[in-house]
Parts: sequence; structure tokens; C-alpha cells
Amino acid sequence: MTKAKRSCPACGSGINGHPNKKFCDSRCKDRHHNRYNPRGYYAHLAISVEEAEAREQEAMHNEAMDAQEASESPGGFFGDG
Ligand SMILES: [Zn+2]
Repeated sequence: MTKAKRSCPACGSGINGHPNKKFCDSRCKDRHHNRYNPRGYYAHLAISVEEAEAREQEAMHNEAMDAQEASESPGGFFGDG
């Protein structure tokens, strides 16, 4: 029997307690599963780097468009049609 020191896959700190325990606490367990097998509330966190960059650029673009629209406001925006 060897008693290997286990470490939490989520945060890397040592695990004390039950031998079957895989994470240092349930929060780390949730975090780990959400990262590698995301669904529900945390699904939006599991996007690729490319997607994250695309979203960021899109947000910046939208901000720029908003600023432009504000400065070029045509006056009768709410229409008289
Ligand atoms: Zn942990």
C-alpha cells in the first residue's frame, strides 16, 4: 500500500480526508466539471479562445457603432411616418 499525496485537479492543493475524495472540496469539484463537461449555467464559460475573441471584437464593434449612431443622430429618429 502506498499512500500517495493527492492533489486537487481543480486548484492543485492537497486533499485531506476520505481516500475516495478527488477534489479538495465540492466547489472545486463543480468548477472542474463545469470546465470540462459544461452544461446549464456555466455553459457560456466553456467557449473556445477563438469564440471568446470573436465575442470581444463584436462587443467592441457594437460599442463603436453605438457611439457613431449617437453622434450622427438624424434627429427624427422616432419617425414621423
Ligand atoms: Zn481544490
